[in-house]
Amino acid sequence: MPTKFTPLKYFGFASLAATFALMCVVRLWYTMFLLFGFALVMVLLHGKNTYCAHYCPLGTLQDAMGEKSPRVRPFPGVRLLKYLLIPLFWAAVIYTTVVFQRDGVRLWVWMLRIMVSMFFLAMVLQEWLGRRFFCVHLCPLRHPVLEPARRARNLAVKRR
Ligand code: SF4
Repeated sequence: MPTKFTPLKYFGFASLAATFALMCVVRLWYTMFLLFGFALVMVLLHGKNTYCAHYCPLGTLQDAMGEKSPRVRPFPGVRLLKYLLIPLFWAAVIYTTVVFQRDGVRLWVWMLRIMVSMFFLAMVLQEWLGRRFFCVHLCPLRHPVLEPARRARNLAVKRR
């Protein structure tokens, strides 16, 4: 079934364009952190993962490219992959930020490499293992940050 593009999806395309402009034209090495901060604020405000549904540039790109992709398939090594990829991603981000903090060009180049790698990985996995496989199982923002923040926020609101 073709992916439905609701008007809200255009926020995703705007976010994709803004990410490209900030990272590739303006060359802001911390573009990814701006996105992560925005995602966290959205989750804390709404108590649900609005960012993933409507604003994430990588989610939008997967939806746009994945019209013909199959549904997510089970993959036996998924837990291992998750526990390798997420720490590796954060280690690369922290290492890059600390080590190249005084060298703006290399900092930008390495952040761009990390972002492009994640985009590339998500697209390949979607083709191979189904729609939004990366989001469902591997995303280093959603699983260790957004989901716990969402649960904590909703618990705190319930206890009030
Ligand atoms: S799971 Fe990750 S990549 Fe997917 S939409 Fe959410 S933040 Fe974006």
